[in-house]
Amino acid sequence: MKFRSVLLTALLGCAALFAVAQAQTVKPSGVSLRPATPGKFAQVSPVTVPATPSSRTPPESVQPGQVQPLAPGTLPAPRLPRLTLNPAIPEVQKIEYLGNGHIEVAGAVLTLTLDDQSRARALAGYVARRVLAAREQLDEVDVSVYDKASYGGFGGPLPLLTASVPRDRLDEFLDWSAGKGTYDRAWISTMPGVAPTRRPEPVRELTVNFLGSLADKAADAVHHTTAKVLGGVQGGLLYHGSARSTLSALTFDDAPHPMYEPLLLDILRRENVHATFFVIGRNARAYPYFVKDMVDQGHEVGNHTYHHVRLPPLPIADAVQELMSASQVIQGITGKPVRYFRPPGGDYTPATLRAAESLGLTTVFWTDDPGDFQNPGVRVLIERYTKTLRRGGIVLLHDNAPEMLQVLPTFLRLAQARRIELDTVGVLVGQSEAGKPDGGFPLSGRPVNVSASLTRPAARPSPKLVPVEVRLP
Ligand SMILES: [Zn+2]
Repeated sequence: MKFRSVLLTALLGCAALFAVAQAQTVKPSGVSLRPATPGKFAQVSPVTVPATPSSRTPPESVQPGQVQPLAPGTLPAPRLPRLTLNPAIPEVQKIEYLGNGHIEVAGAVLTLTLDDQSRARALAGYVARRVLAAREQLDEVDVSVYDKASYGGFGGPLPLLTASVPRDRLDEFLDWSAGKGTYDRAWISTMPGVAPTRRPEPVRELTVNFLGSLADKAADAVHHTTAKVLGGVQGGLLYHGSARSTLSALTFDDAPHPMYEPLLLDILRRENVHATFFVIGRNARAYPYFVKDMVDQGHEVGNHTYHHVRLPPLPIADAVQELMSASQVIQGITGKPVRYFRPPGGDYTPATLRAAESLGLTTVFWTDDPGDFQNPGVRVLIERYTKTLRRGGIVLLHDNAPEMLQVLPTFLRLAQARRIELDTVGVLVGQSEAGKPDGGFPLSGRPVNVSASLTRPAARPSPKLVPVEVRLP
């Protein structure tokens, strides 16, 4: 079997060398979501979702990493409903809220002057109490207090203080905010007002892009094709697991995000599904309790760089630092070594691959990317997912895409209907490596006839995003 694998690799290498002369970019198996193919999805009628904020307004206050940025030709994210306090609190910039059909979470952004930062704890407590009192449907409020002078949104300088306050822990949080006792779901910056060395890049993982010389591309084509055909970890790369396994990996990029994270984790907990979260180091640093929640719920935490930047344009020392800083933050929170890395934007070079390997990181790509960050509408997302979901695949979603929250329960049902168990990358690799060589990987998923109907959940009406219920054949 080993000889067959080597022979297969050699043959594939010849084919790949030929192919690279014709294609400058090698893409993974699965659907391509390049803007050149919009007609494929344009036939699908947009779906009007009841009670979803319908005005797709320009994201005037959107900062990189805050809400999904725009890819060319895609729709902006719907504006989230906002909560207004009466009387107003001058330091409150905005309070948004969102539901997942089961629970509802608010995100409150506050700014105050650096000289006034000693008030941050007390102010956070006051705002949490007022927000929860103002809307009884809320199960949690997440508070982020920023320096007013340097505030640049979610991708700007880190907050001075953050806290996650479930309603049933409000009293405990109020005690802490008054200087009494401890509270494990709060974080205070040790470097207030320090600007990030890099701005998070508004790139999303659309296609895998190898960058390098023609010789590099030829070598990568061999490497890439081998990894695609054999499956499992090949030379530091992972494109998919074994098609013979019953598993597919479920992955979420760009985590953690206040407000979205508790909603997503709640869905996964209810469905008893584990996933791999590729987290941005600086976000993990400011919201460590969400990363701890991931691990406590049995999820896996991977590296998505510290600032969410593409590594190829950076000097290699800086690229290594991006990877190392993110791994250090994650390991400091989880107490576990970080094993997997997903490159922002899908961009990589031989040097970044080696850098990741030197830090014990396998570079993980994907097979199924329904493009949740493009906000194409839930019906389009379901169609795309239906076409690409496969055994041994790797599903790519983003933790802060509102439509992802709507369709995730449907995605999970589809996987169940195909008898595909969704789990972490680590579990996928463990199973795929045990079964190597697997003799190939299907280039297209088996279609499933799905009819989607949009209905409100009966249990707990929520005025926000409503999960999509799907009748499976
Ligand atoms: Zn990303």
